[in-house]
Amino acid sequence: MFQKDEYYVLILGLDNAGKTTFLERTKSKFSRNYQSLSADKISPTVGLNIGRIDLGSIRLRFWDLGGQKDLLTLWDKYYSEAHAVIFMIDSTDKERLSMSKEAFDEMMVHPALDRVPLLVLANKQDLESAMALDEIKTIFNESLQNLGKRDFKIQPISALKSQGIHESIDWLVYCAK
Ligand code: GDP
Repeated sequence: MFQKDEYYVLILGLDNAGKTTFLERTKSKFSRNYQSLSADKISPTVGLNIGRIDLGSIRLRFWDLGGQKDLLTLWDKYYSEAHAVIFMIDSTDKERLSMSKEAFDEMMVHPALDRVPLLVLANKQDLESAMALDEIKTIFNESLQNLGKRDFKIQPISALKSQGIHESIDWLVYCAK
């Protein structure tokens, strides 16, 4: 049987950033026969959510790792397998943005992720209280100076409203090719 090329995509970020919602919406957009969970059925990530979508000859496999504090230490166990990383930011969570940045910086210095393509998603852009992309870029500025040799994109999205999901997946496929 025709074998698809498989790419592993890690979805990282603090709890409540919208990782589970993003994965659910992605699956419902790209998988046939997939029934999306309604927002109230999606619980904040505890542990591991997985998902896969097929796009032509490519299969993207997602791992949504729990962002709760005590799970952060687990992240690096998955790094060596990752072909790409999505880092999810809750654009409305000003209070924890520095914590998110810390987690981001910790991830970025990990040697296993050297050169691994990175997609930063500034989520919850449907909310008025969301910080604009430029504001987030300014706060992450130092971190974004140290990207090294990797493909990088930062994208404003609303996982809940399924906005920016196509662009995100297109970019991952572009990196996979
Ligand atoms: P996770 O812990 O990172 O997996 O976050 P969830 O996907 O469970 O989302 C946490 C909360 O944020 C839930 O109440 C979601 O409905 C909400 N949420 C996720 N994405 C969005 C978004 O784009 N806009 C809004 N307004 N809420 C969102």
